[in-house]
Amino acid sequence: MRSSLSYLTTVLVIAGCGGDIPQGPTPGRPSFEGQQAHDLVELQVSFGPRIPGTVGHDRQLRWMLARLDSFAPEVIADTFTYVTTYSDSLTLVNVLARYRPEAERRLLLLAHWDTRPRADQAKDPAQQELPVPGANDGGSGTAVLLELARIMSDALPPLGIDLLFVDGEDYGPEPADMFIGARRYADQLSLLSPAMRPMYGVLLDMVGDANPSFPIEGYSAQHALPVVRKVWRTAARLGYSNFFPESVGIRLSDDHIPLNEAGLQTVDIIDFTYGGSDNIYWHTPEDLPSHVSATTLEIVGEVITELIYSGG
Ligand SMILES: [Zn+2]
Repeated sequence: MRSSLSYLTTVLVIAGCGGDIPQGPTPGRPSFEGQQAHDLVELQVSFGPRIPGTVGHDRQLRWMLARLDSFAPEVIADTFTYVTTYSDSLTLVNVLARYRPEAERRLLLLAHWDTRPRADQAKDPAQQELPVPGANDGGSGTAVLLELARIMSDALPPLGIDLLFVDGEDYGPEPADMFIGARRYADQLSLLSPAMRPMYGVLLDMVGDANPSFPIEGYSAQHALPVVRKVWRTAARLGYSNFFPESVGIRLSDDHIPLNEAGLQTVDIIDFTYGGSDNIYWHTPEDLPSHVSATTLEIVGEVITELIYSGG
C-alpha cells in the first residue's frame, strides 16, 4: 500500500453512537490461536518472496490451494494475465474460498498474498533492489485468513464467508501496477447475482507488528463508516480498545479502494507503524517473521472471529 496525505486527526466517530456495547465474546464460539497463525507466517516466508513469476509465488499458491481445498466447501482460483506499464506480462491468481456458499448474507474477508519485488524503503541503497520477505506485508493477513479457514471447517459460521486472497497488490513500483487482483475482483462484483454479493468487506494488511495500533484508516472512515463502527465496536467488546483506538488516522491506498469504488463498503485494518512510528520495517529486507508477533495476530484474529460468529 501507499500512504497519502499523512495527517492524523482524533475525530471520534464511534463514541456517542448510543446503545451499550455488550462485553465479552459470543458464547460458544471458537477461539483464535495467534501461534498457529505465526507458524503460517514462517511457512510462507520459507517459500521465498511471493513475487509473481517466481518459484516462491508458485510454491505458496500450491500450498494455499491444497490447504483451502481441505478446509473449504468451495474454492475458486481465478488465474489471469496482467501486462504492467513496463510491458511485463504477469500471471496472477486470486483465490476465493467460500463457506456456506448458499447463504445470501455474506461477509468478504480479504488479504493480499503476493510480496513486494523491491525493498524500496530500505535506508541502504544497496538493499533497495532486494525483495521484501513479506512476513507482515502479505504474510500476516494471509496467515490470519488461512487460520480462519481451518477454524471455520470445524465450526460452520452463522453466515456466508468469502475468504479472498488477492494477488498483485504490491507489484509496483507505479501505483498503476498495484492492487491488481483487488481491481479485478471489483470489476467482477457487478457481474455477481445479488445473492452472491457480500454485504461488506474487511481487508487485513500488516496486522502483525509487535506494538499493535489500528486507528481507523482514513478512506475507510470516509467510505465505509457503518463497517468501521461494526469492526471497532467488536474490538471494544473484546477489550481491545487500546489497540483499536476510535480515532481516524492516516489515509492509505490499498486493496479496499477499488472495492469501495465498486460500491462494496470495505474497511482496511492496517498498522502503518511497523517497527515503530517511523514504520521502519515496511518495504525493507527487515520484514521478517521475528518482527511479527503471535500476540498481535491473535488480537486481530479474535476480532475477526468474533465478527464472524456474532453474525457479521
Ligand atoms: Zn506493501
